[in-house]
Amino acid sequence: MTVHIVGGGLAGSEAAHYLSSRGHEVFLYEMRPVKMTEVHRTGFLAELVCSNSLKSESLTNAEGLLKAEMKLIGSLILTCADLARIPAGKALAVDRGAFSECVTKSVEDSGVKVIRKEIKELSPKDDEIWIIATGPATSEGLAENIRDMTGGEDFYFFDAVAPIVTKESIDMGKAFFGSRYEESGDYINCPMTEEEYRKFWRELVNAETIPMENFDKKHLFERCMPIEEIARSGENALLFGPLRPTGLIDPKTGERPFAVVQLRRDNKEGTLYNIVGFQTRLRWREQDRVLRKIPCLRNVEIVRYGVMHRNIYINSPKVLDVFMRFNDRIFFAGQITGVEGYVESAMSGLYVAFNVDRILRGKKPVRFPRETMIGALTHYITEDVEGDLRPMYANFGLLKPLERKIKNKLERRKALSERALKALSEFLEKFRS
Ligand SMILES: Cc1cc2nc3c(=O)[nH]c(=O)nc-3n(C[C@H](O)[C@H](O)[C@H](O)COP(=O)(O)OP(=O)(O)OC[C@H]3O[C@@H](n4cnc5c(N)ncnc54)[C@H](O)[C@@H]3O)c2cc1C
Repeated sequence: MTVHIVGGGLAGSEAAHYLSSRGHEVFLYEMRPVKMTEVHRTGFLAELVCSNSLKSESLTNAEGLLKAEMKLIGSLILTCADLARIPAGKALAVDRGAFSECVTKSVEDSGVKVIRKEIKELSPKDDEIWIIATGPATSEGLAENIRDMTGGEDFYFFDAVAPIVTKESIDMGKAFFGSRYEESGDYINCPMTEEEYRKFWRELVNAETIPMENFDKKHLFERCMPIEEIARSGENALLFGPLRPTGLIDPKTGERPFAVVQLRRDNKEGTLYNIVGFQTRLRWREQDRVLRKIPCLRNVEIVRYGVMHRNIYINSPKVLDVFMRFNDRIFFAGQITGVEGYVESAMSGLYVAFNVDRILRGKKPVRFPRETMIGALTHYITEDVEGDLRPMYANFGLLKPLERKIKNKLERRKALSERALKALSEFLEKFRS
């Protein structure tokens, strides 16, 4: 039997590496750089298309628990993230170039045959298993084929990317380093007075956006809401969202600013920063103009503009079983299944690979314990949704409640995480081949 994986993103790379490292013959088809998507910029595997943060590592955070579980299974994505890590407080942020290079090299070194071509149609032979991990930017031809195959409706939503700017173009005379509530000073903060904020807000809500076919706010995933859409919901909306000054004191004044724009380091050298929460569909010239209304960005140089993009996913509860299997020969993994986020997508690659490995060894696939974030999220995506599937990310609400009640939220989350890691260790002991 051979395994054929379509899409060398976070899910596909994770699955390919896992299966190849266990001695299976794996072919990975990645269309870049021969054919690019609207959001990728390089030919590397596992390119991070927007933020360079893989979010929190704390066990009182659902993303932190998910990562801890993936590490127990042996996640390549997290190994490379550790190697490419750059400072970002409690978050796991990476130098995106070093990260993707690490994944590409590790996948190739593990023996996976990486083939650079677009797959337009799926027709697996009897001795082949195919894993479709083509992500939110699945190429048109294949998307059509999948739609026909699954009999699915036109499921999609819109996602947005924030601009990246050069550090040297930020006015550090006005900005200051600091993180909300933490000692570390990893973020650059651009303070604004009330007058500066109001002026910026007016420019933002009146700026020209790129019209998009089928653009409908109800399809926007809330954590990827474009900044101009948040701003349009009220003059103070940004003060409770990405521009909230909470937890930040400007050392020059000793006071909390009226509003703060935060920038997170985007590469190891610290020469590039992305603007936190500034996903946008403003026209590029408007991005230049409006960002310059922020005092410490008045001479800003944007190296990657924000964009919006149609994001495809299938109706998993209807078409997949809990093992992300469409039929005996075809599995799906990654964001196309309706999980949301880099780490969640990588997790689903690992999850599918775990069971494909078992199947190839003549064993039955197994469900992950519902106490684990992996088990709970995959259960939600394939079995638990009421009505239409909306993309879902890791959160403690998905886990079975504890048997004993713990009032304190952090203590409760810690207990949930401990229970999950224990359950996963026992599960792996029993079922990992
Ligand atoms: C614009 C945008 C911004 C996002 N920002 C964030 C963010 O900031 N943080 C976050 O956690 N998540 C973000 N996401 C969500 C999601 O986590 C990422 O999209 C993630 O990369 C999904 O992983 P994946 O492996 O499923 O797909 P991808 O990483 O996109 O990988 C799919 C791969 O398949 C290839 N491919 C597509 N079609 C074919 C074909 N027919 N033949 C061969 N190869 C093909 C593509 O080139 C790509 O390399 C964003 C998504 C989008 C669209």
